[in-house]
Amino acid sequence: MQALTNRSKVVVKKEMSLAEKLYLPAILNGLKITFSHFFAKKATISYPEETRAFAPVYRGMHVLKRDENGAERCTACGLCAVACPAEAITMVAAERKKGEEKLYREEKYAAVYEINMLRCIFCGLCEEACPKEAIFLTDRIVPSDYERDGFIYGKDKLVDPIDKPIDVSVRETAEVAAFKKDKEYAHNQTWKDQVNTRKSGH
Ligand code: SF4
Ligand code: SF4
Repeated sequence: MQALTNRSKVVVKKEMSLAEKLYLPAILNGLKITFSHFFAKKATISYPEETRAFAPVYRGMHVLKRDENGAERCTACGLCAVACPAEAITMVAAERKKGEEKLYREEKYAAVYEINMLRCIFCGLCEEACPKEAIFLTDRIVPSDYERDGFIYGKDKLVDPIDKPIDVSVRETAEVAAFKKDKEYAHNQTWKDQVNTRKSGH
């Protein structure tokens, strides 16, 4: 038959040797690949005993921060919930009572604050929306659970531990830190600042 091009290759049906009939070259080739992986750098780690370093921009489990006096910064304004694209945040606001100034920084606070971690996409928009620097995402992983209810994180899991505050300095930029220190803005004043302002009659 006349070939249209000269690129065709004639396949020769070669008689197999005894070794080939016993698959010996194929087995040896397979073993060579297996042994080469014994000495290669491992792509996996033994989690949870070993962990990988996270990128500085990693966004994990949230924390509700306290101010320098230990009072909760959140004022239950709801801006984080409005900004949340996954509708993962719910809260119930309450009015601060007399004598609770040390517990809550503002006159209104979140009596209930919940994040549904199954809905959350860790976008960080709640953190950006918060005018009180009250919510931050951290490098903590949300642990797995067998029950869906276990992923509804309330204040017991979200509020900063008073004796062991979580460091969020990597997420607080210099501009944010400077803005937060400016006592000209009412929302940057602690209850102590407000008491001092009232005493000085301003
Ligand atoms: S990180 Fe994003 S999805 Fe998660 S609670 Fe905040 S705004 Fe919602
Ligand atoms: S975390 Fe911030 S934005 Fe959300 S309710 Fe509290 S103060 Fe408002």
